[in-house]
Amino acid sequence: MRCLVPESFSPTERTRVVRESQRGVYDRKTIYKILDEAFVCHAGFSVDGQPYVIPTLFARVGDAICFHGSAASRMLRNLSEGIPVCITVTLTDGFVLARSVFNHSMNYRSVVALGKATLVDGPGEKLEALHAFTEKILPGRWNDARQPSEKELKATSILRLPLSEVSAKIRSGPPEDDAPDYALPVWAGMIPLQLVPGAPIRDERCDASIPTPAYAAHYQR
Ligand SMILES: Cc1cc2nc3c(=O)[nH]c(=O)nc-3n(C[C@H](O)[C@H](O)[C@H](O)COP(=O)(O)OP(=O)(O)OC[C@H]3O[C@@H](n4cnc5c(N)ncnc54)[C@H](O)[C@@H]3O)c2cc1C
Repeated sequence: MRCLVPESFSPTERTRVVRESQRGVYDRKTIYKILDEAFVCHAGFSVDGQPYVIPTLFARVGDAICFHGSAASRMLRNLSEGIPVCITVTLTDGFVLARSVFNHSMNYRSVVALGKATLVDGPGEKLEALHAFTEKILPGRWNDARQPSEKELKATSILRLPLSEVSAKIRSGPPEDDAPDYALPVWAGMIPLQLVPGAPIRDERCDASIPTPAYAAHYQR
């Protein structure tokens, strides 16, 4: 059963967008849409006073972000001890070319989530989290591929960050030039950017009689 969650996150002192505050968004639906479109996040954490920002795959599973990795990695070792983490997700939607160099910008949708992650424990719970994680990123793949062995499960740590202190920031639309600059004979506008999947490339060692699954042939995000 799904618990009732508020439609918006409450901005805290730490998650209040300061510059261009009108671009700050706290609506849960909008934030989840950004998280579901992205598949790479950056996990920021500090160890012995040294900040690390590590890129990694993630998936939103319900009201949490799940990410995984080798139990031996610095990220997993440290975050599993419950140190504070900052997860950042960025979608780049386009370059914004203004008439002045100063006003050049990007259209983007980004999310920052703060908190402490917990380790998903127990082989059953881990398997369930891995299943959800895999299916979020590549729907249909879990049942086709070999399932994780006990040894593989042991070597994998899965972290779960509940989404509670979260902000998004969104820039969209045309350039915003200073009023006098609109008269300049300079091209201005946007160059949209998109992540476009290419045609699947069969592994040389993949038997040619095995059909390409639909989720690979028609991969979409
Ligand atoms: C692709 C991209 C390019 C950018 N380029 C620039 C640039 O060139 N120069 C520049 O100054 N800024 C840039 N930004 C904006 C930048 O991410 C910050 O928003 C900016 O530094 C202002 O921070 P602040 O001082 O208002 O807030 P901070 O004090 O840094 O942050 C306060 C809180 O606001 C929230 N917040 C701040 N920024 C974001 C965000 N982007 N997404 C979600 N939540 C956020 C977080 O919860 C954060 O804890 C870019 C953002 C993106 C996604």
